[in-house]
Amino acid sequence: MIKHPAEPFRIKSVEPIHLISHEERKKAIQAAGYNIFLLKAEDVYIDFLTDSGTGAMSQAQWGAIMEGDESYAGARSFFQMKEAMDEIFGFEYFVPTHQGRAAENILASLLVKPGNYIPSNMHFDTTEGNIRARGGRPTNLVIDDAFDPANRNPFKGNMDLKKLKDFIEKTGAENIPFGTITITNNAGGGQPVSLQNIREVSALYHSYNIPFFIDSCRYAENSWFIKQREPGYSHKTPLEIAREIYSYADGAWMSAKKDALVNIGGFLAVRSAELYQKICNELILREGFPTYGGLAGRDLAALAVGLREGLQEDYLAYRIAQTSYVGESLLAAGIPIVEPPGGHAIYIDAGRLLPHIPQHEFPGIALSNAMYRAGGIRACEIGSVMFAYTDPDSGKMIHPKLELVRMAIPRRMYTQSHFDYVLDVLKEIRESKDQLRGFKITYQAPLMRHFTARFEPL
Ligand SMILES: *Cc1c(COP(=O)(O)O)cnc(C)c1O
Repeated sequence: MIKHPAEPFRIKSVEPIHLISHEERKKAIQAAGYNIFLLKAEDVYIDFLTDSGTGAMSQAQWGAIMEGDESYAGARSFFQMKEAMDEIFGFEYFVPTHQGRAAENILASLLVKPGNYIPSNMHFDTTEGNIRARGGRPTNLVIDDAFDPANRNPFKGNMDLKKLKDFIEKTGAENIPFGTITITNNAGGGQPVSLQNIREVSALYHSYNIPFFIDSCRYAENSWFIKQREPGYSHKTPLEIAREIYSYADGAWMSAKKDALVNIGGFLAVRSAELYQKICNELILREGFPTYGGLAGRDLAALAVGLREGLQEDYLAYRIAQTSYVGESLLAAGIPIVEPPGGHAIYIDAGRLLPHIPQHEFPGIALSNAMYRAGGIRACEIGSVMFAYTDPDSGKMIHPKLELVRMAIPRRMYTQSHFDYVLDVLKEIRESKDQLRGFKITYQAPLMRHFTARFEPL
């Protein structure tokens, strides 16, 4: 039996969830066109669609919400957030934003000109979208190990420094308004980046006078992985590690819906006074005054508390071990996943689990449907529905390397017995997996088809 620490909290307020009958689940998924995005959340028993904004807040956060200061300018809640920001990140300036993508939009609108390149280990899709919307070209330069699902590199999110140097030489530093890195690497399975890599990436960018920004959504989980895995850091606190990470950066942005343990919020932080002034002007135009940035005072108050709670050692130990428990238990049961387990999600390798279903019949959709039908579990395909495209030259369909199903794990929400239930359902599916059939698409939108596509079983 794979052990992990028990939850470092007890439950004070409960939200009932209900497993509707097998018959009702069959009807619900059929009515949704076999697309789990189109299900009603109430028809889902265990929801792994995303870890973004879905976590549970603490009593301290709910208490802070009651004390939120709704003053338009200079609210007390803003200064509480500022105190946490100064303590953890240490940037000279920051503004709150309503989500991570609002910060990305402001940064891209101010810095990205058509034809510019923005390197990263891997860009998240909203980052990529905001850079492209300004005519920029996001480029992914993660190490090759990231693409091998069985490779157990402890820092599989690292930037490939040689690729980065060659890339800067080739494109010219003058065409790179800023460089970035995503911690943990969400698009690459929630895999961490080492402090050594962050230090070297920073030095490389700076040697070309390129400002270095960190996409920080899961910075606390990344700090915990550094403490566990990187020589020289086991005696440091996650806070000390985070402070070192940000000492190498010129700026950062974050979706607080992840490691700041709130349901809405984010920030953009910088060292440059001149850039901060421009950010404020943009923020006032689109989001709100610089001391609230599109959030309510109570949101800022909960964020200030959540930033600190997200770095607590017993919370991080439980959080990362919980994800690992799910992943290692699946492996032990003969269900292939992307290894090693990441911070916020487990990716089941549906392509390897269901080799009898070809890529054009969507093994990930077959598995996500089976999970819903068998147990009311919602998990998202990350495979051909999301990423396959028709090559404009050959007219051929190009499929992604892997057909995955992602189980993103909300923070502090589900307990050990929920996960044991999920593991039982997946073992049951494995027993009869050869009977699962593929799907065909009956409707698709021209872009981002995974959200609204409809399917039929073959
Ligand atoms: C969630 C996320 C974002 C975008 O944040 P939103 O709050 O959803 O707008 C950006 N980057 C990464 C790595 C993310 O995980």
